Amino acid sequence: MDKKDYYEVLGVSRDANEQEIKKAYRRLAVKYHPDRNPDDKEAEDRFKEAAEAYEVLSDTEKRRIYDQYGHDGLKGSGFSGFGGVDDIFSHFGDIFGDLFGFSSRRRDPRRGRDLPTELDLTFEEAAKGTVKEVEVRRRAACATCGGTGAKPGTQPEICPTCQGRGQVVHQQGFFVIQTTCPTCRGEGSLIHEKCPDCKGRGYQVVTESLKVTIPAGIDDGMTLRVAGKGEAGPAGASPGDLYVTCHVASDDRFERDGADLLTRVDVTYAQLVLGTEVEIPLVEGTMSMEIPAGTPVDHTFVLKGKGLPNLSRRGQGNLYVRLNLEIPTKITSAQEELLRALAKEEGAEISASRRFFKKFKKRKS
Ligand SMILES: [Zn+2]
Ligand SMILES: [Zn+2]
Repeated sequence: MDKKDYYEVLGVSRDANEQEIKKAYRRLAVKYHPDRNPDDKEAEDRFKEAAEAYEVLSDTEKRRIYDQYGHDGLKGSGFSGFGGVDDIFSHFGDIFGDLFGFSSRRRDPRRGRDLPTELDLTFEEAAKGTVKEVEVRRRAACATCGGTGAKPGTQPEICPTCQGRGQVVHQQGFFVIQTTCPTCRGEGSLIHEKCPDCKGRGYQVVTESLKVTIPAGIDDGMTLRVAGKGEAGPAGASPGDLYVTCHVASDDRFERDGADLLTRVDVTYAQLVLGTEVEIPLVEGTMSMEIPAGTPVDHTFVLKGKGLPNLSRRGQGNLYVRLNLEIPTKITSAQEELLRALAKEEGAEISASRRFFKKFKKRKS
């Protein structure tokens, strides 16, 4: 079988950089992800193909060999592609966590599918933590038959072809190929008398309102897992999980970097020279902070522990206070007089009267 060009597989040019390659792979991996394309051989092949291309092109050394010698060159380097989907998951565990926001390690192959959902949070909700209701439409195990799909009082029979595994294994040359069992179509069991409520499917589609606990300090883009609230598995297999990706609104008062916050406070020249006390916004309320006399304008104050709770490590982030020197564009004549006197005292040269300057400009035009 002729192998496709890796650059063509990913749809990138031969001089694509690391970012472009990663982006292209991400797009394909999401599109052909087996969880999204169950039992689709074509999608699975695309998925494997993309993973192989990414494996090579994301590695400087392998890419160099491939550019120079093509597929044959890589044979000599010991790289032979991937055996199956599970191989890809174990190899790219980290990048999949990154790609989908959740782990794609596959446990019980008959386990129900994971469901993704999204949730909007205000800055305060994320800072303090809260409990939010999330509405999910999911396949839940049928209450009448307990998810077996069999009429109450009867039992599903374990599939004699696959012994309940739902998958059959063939040996083809060097490869071991696993496919969905043709007798039970992957269910692992055969139902002779179907449950009247779910027609033998074992699940019912329900819309549920779930309470999700939001930990204090959650950041934009983080994903929470609600165990067992994904789709029901076939015939009583364990359900998948619900993955809630949180979108945290920004706050005008702060710039956020993980658990650290940055705020800017306006000060005047006189305040910096003579010292002052300013009001600083906190996540909750405000506090006053002393700016000592002679503080340089580029000084950043660090208020330890006044940031947000740190989710990965313990403790709290910091609040950084940066000064912003306000330069007025409109001043009173009294202010102008004082500034001119100040400049004279300092021996600093300054422009002629602003008013005179304006008049002069007006006459000229
Ligand atoms: Zn049922
Ligand atoms: Zn079977």
